[in-house]
Amino acid sequence: MKKSYLKIFQFFLDIIFPKNCYGCKKSGKYICENCRKNLSKNFPQTCFSCGAETEFGEFCEVCKKREKNLDGILVFYKFDEILRKAIHSYKYKFRKEVGVELSEIFRAKFFESDINFFSQVFVAPVPLHKNRLSWRGFNQSENLARSISFSFEKNDFNFLKNFSETKNNFQEKFIFLDLLERTKDTRPQVGLEKLEREKNIKNAFSVKKEFQNFVQEKTFLIVDDVVTTGSTLRECAKTLKNFGAKKVFGVCLTKSR
Ligand SMILES: [Zn+2]
Ligand SMILES: [Zn+2]
Repeated sequence: MKKSYLKIFQFFLDIIFPKNCYGCKKSGKYICENCRKNLSKNFPQTCFSCGAETEFGEFCEVCKKREKNLDGILVFYKFDEILRKAIHSYKYKFRKEVGVELSEIFRAKFFESDINFFSQVFVAPVPLHKNRLSWRGFNQSENLARSISFSFEKNDFNFLKNFSETKNNFQEKFIFLDLLERTKDTRPQVGLEKLEREKNIKNAFSVKKEFQNFVQEKTFLIVDDVVTTGSTLRECAKTLKNFGAKKVFGVCLTKSR
């Protein structure tokens, strides 16, 4: 579509779906500046398993012993009603502009939290199965992941072959790398209990062939929009650790339950 058509299209879209804040109903944005400021002030990072406060969402000393693969989960916002509504309309009503606002919020909090506990990290989204992706048309986790990382061009992948952390041949600290794929078309986790979720997601992921040798000794952040029991992130972490990843953390916009 030409740009001018796109603008007209957007104009009608705004009439049909006027942008009103999901919190206070003010027009203009889905999450207005004021409501944005009120989103979970001073939300502390905790051990995902027991809720003890930890520096950057890593599992505490006790829970660490039970976690085989995942090193921690960072969660940035409480599951306020306003976020719940925004995420729902983004994912199930395909309002992409809501996604843009969610990415902004995510990005702001991510860099505000000053995560400096490792050097260079690779940021990977939780992948959707290709059937799900073609149904939705986008992967919400990929958009969040891209908002906090540097993406290089497809044909720049070559740099990875010679990548070395000590040589520091890449300046950016957070590098986007869509290296996981969902090989099993699982049913949605929504509505499933913890054990069902684990079973449903088991062996659902793999590392794309071209990246399998690259994973060794690297640190990864796996990005997802909402974490519930953590079973998806654990499964992604297992997949990466099987290929020798050093550390794997989950990074999520919000946590439900
Ligand atoms: Zn508002
Ligand atoms: Zn704990």
